[in-house]
Amino acid sequence: MTATGDVTDTLRQRISELEREKRMLQEGVTQADRMRRLWEQALADLKDTKKTLEARNEQLSALYRVATAMTRCLSTEELFERIMDAMEDVAPLEQRRSMGLFLVEDDRMHLAASRGGSPEFLAAHEGMRVGDCLCGRVARDGEMIVTRQCHRDPRHTIQYPGFEPHGHLILPLVSGEEEVVGVFYYYLPPDYDLLQRELDTFVAIGHQLGLAIERARLYDQARALSMHDALTGLWNRRYMDVALERDIGNARRYGGSLAAVMADLDRFKAYNDRHGHPAGDRLLAEVAGILREQVRGGDLVVRYGGEEYLMLLPQCDEATARAVAERVREAVEQGTEITISLGIALCVGEGCAADTLIEAADQALYQAKDAGRNCVMVAP
Ligand code: GH3
Ligand code: MG
Ligand code: MG
Repeated sequence: MTATGDVTDTLRQRISELEREKRMLQEGVTQADRMRRLWEQALADLKDTKKTLEARNEQLSALYRVATAMTRCLSTEELFERIMDAMEDVAPLEQRRSMGLFLVEDDRMHLAASRGGSPEFLAAHEGMRVGDCLCGRVARDGEMIVTRQCHRDPRHTIQYPGFEPHGHLILPLVSGEEEVVGVFYYYLPPDYDLLQRELDTFVAIGHQLGLAIERARLYDQARALSMHDALTGLWNRRYMDVALERDIGNARRYGGSLAAVMADLDRFKAYNDRHGHPAGDRLLAEVAGILREQVRGGDLVVRYGGEEYLMLLPQCDEATARAVAERVREAVEQGTEITISLGIALCVGEGCAADTLIEAADQALYQAKDAGRNCVMVAP
């Protein structure tokens, strides 16, 4: 062995050692890289999970807010405003968008509440029917519609001045009996994509709203029944007490006048005896219709007793009350086989009191009976 050969050997050995070290280092780097990627992936997963949980949380709290808003109100009028408030909170967009709620009654769609609709928009949707435009389709089919461009959607048939490109989310509001009781619409910016979880939230809320509307309608019906007379459809005494207090209060506060007209069918017992009770019932309803036709919007017609009616006419002077009573008398005389007697009493401002007003109208009615019936008398 020469000295040169020794050196070469040592160098070769060193090189292979260095190469082994390099390979080990590279392996270490690869492993560290893999670790880093795993770590990053785990971090991304965690972030996703956090986002999903936050979204879930948001969805649940939105549902909770809507549900509590719904359970707090009994009547429909109150309910619709609450629904609009709750939906403004739930809506995914920062900027407020138009929205509203149609009620479905038979084949008619009635806009019960809305936010942000222009007068032109409101006018264009009057008299809308089930099947019309997108909302009418949702009412007919019970299926949600999401559209990104209404002005290019051939199903969007209602246009109005100021109509701008927009998207829509339209939800059917379904009752417990699977009946579509209403439709909720929400305006979206054109080409806006709702996330699946946003859609899910809306659908869940749609179920809540459907049930709430159904319940509020039942409540309204029950309330209306409790205040109306079943035979004639007129207001009953219970409601009259409330309305009379209100009208008297208004007259006292604002110094207005109030007229009460008490009416009683003449010799109705004889009519019943001649034609039978069911015919008497029909006549009572017929006369109720005549009374209703003769009064204005703010007036009240009550079935006061068996064959007695009371009309309450706010902001009414003696001449007008006389004219109303005279028209009723004439219409009954000409339209039925019977006649009617009427007594009028009036009060003004501070001098108004419920008991004395009704009492005076009753007295005037007695005078009309005494005077031979089929006439009108005014209390002094
Ligand atoms: P007057 O001209 O003095 O008022 O005579 P009248 O016969 O109308 O008065 P009366 O008080 O003697 O009789 C009222 C009748 O009204 C007796 C009752 O049978 C009848 N009546 C009360 N409520 C109803 C009802 O719901 N249906 C029917 N068919 N009759 C009723
Ligand atoms: Mg009578
Ligand atoms: Mg009577």
